[in-house]
Amino acid sequence: MGATLIDGKAIALRVRREVAEATRELKARTGRVPGLAVIRVGEDPASKIYVTGKQKAAAEVGFEASEHHFPETASHAEVQARLEALNADPAVHGILVQLPVPKQVDSAALLRILRPDKDADGLHPVNAGLLAQGRDATVACTPWGVMRMLQEIDCKPAGKRAVVVGRSILVGRPMALLLLNADATVTVCHRKSNLPEEVARGDILVAAVGVPELIKGAWIKPGAVVIDVGINRLPSGKLVGDVEFAAAAERASHITPVPGGVGPMTIAMLLSNTLRNARALLGA
Ligand code: NAP
Repeated sequence: MGATLIDGKAIALRVRREVAEATRELKARTGRVPGLAVIRVGEDPASKIYVTGKQKAAAEVGFEASEHHFPETASHAEVQARLEALNADPAVHGILVQLPVPKQVDSAALLRILRPDKDADGLHPVNAGLLAQGRDATVACTPWGVMRMLQEIDCKPAGKRAVVVGRSILVGRPMALLLLNADATVTVCHRKSNLPEEVARGDILVAAVGVPELIKGAWIKPGAVVIDVGINRLPSGKLVGDVEFAAAAERASHITPVPGGVGPMTIAMLLSNTLRNARALLGA
């Protein structure tokens, strides 16, 4: 393997330590700590694990963390009422609605009601719009974590060709905008793109597709930085990314492993976003 591995666990730990330190400072100055509230509806087993992880990480850095769990049959109105109460609660600075939610609950409508200055996930249309305008915003956690990883390996996007595969609201779109705002020349790929041709141009490649090893190592530009956001479980139980790792690692200069790459960054950036909101809301 020629590429240097980008250690997401170590970078995420650094971010969490920074957040813990800043939380202590905020408490010393204002007597207050960031409050993170997570709304979960139903019994999706993966969501339960993710929310437990988020709560634990928030408590570890000194936040007040609360979970607001509703049964599978909860009505949209019930969930909305709780969201409105959290919007009004001065002890809460970060709110997130864990997706997916049962079909009677309209997650897009909830996102519109959420106060943009309490948006912990950076998915509120106001924050997404500010990002699209190249202005200061709370940014979706996963792509924001990718930018931090690039910074840690001293990869400066300015003037480079960046290729993002995937255009979801959660990952691909905000990723492309962040790279554009950092002065990269950005190509965004999807199902209708000629992937081998486009991927081969990327000095920076970000894969956020959800198809195991879709992106072949032979397509990677020699010396590229490869960030694999994909987390796919094979029938064998093994976790793999969206990039054919072993072959890509022969050509890339840097590459993220799966697991242990982008995954750990997402929770770390959720904490960072909540701290950012708390500082702004507390005027600190
Ligand atoms: P998503 O909403 O399903 O979006 C997938 C995107 O990939 C879509 O834009 C889709 O294109 C594109 N795509 C799918 N198949 C393709 C193909 N054969 N060729 C080209 N493009 C294709 O997924 P997501 O939420 O962005 O997540 C993507 C992956 O990242 C998943 O594996 C997910 O588990 C992982 N993820 C990881 C983290 C983390 O913390 N590391 C966080 C979030 C997501 P169209 O728009 O044309 O349909």
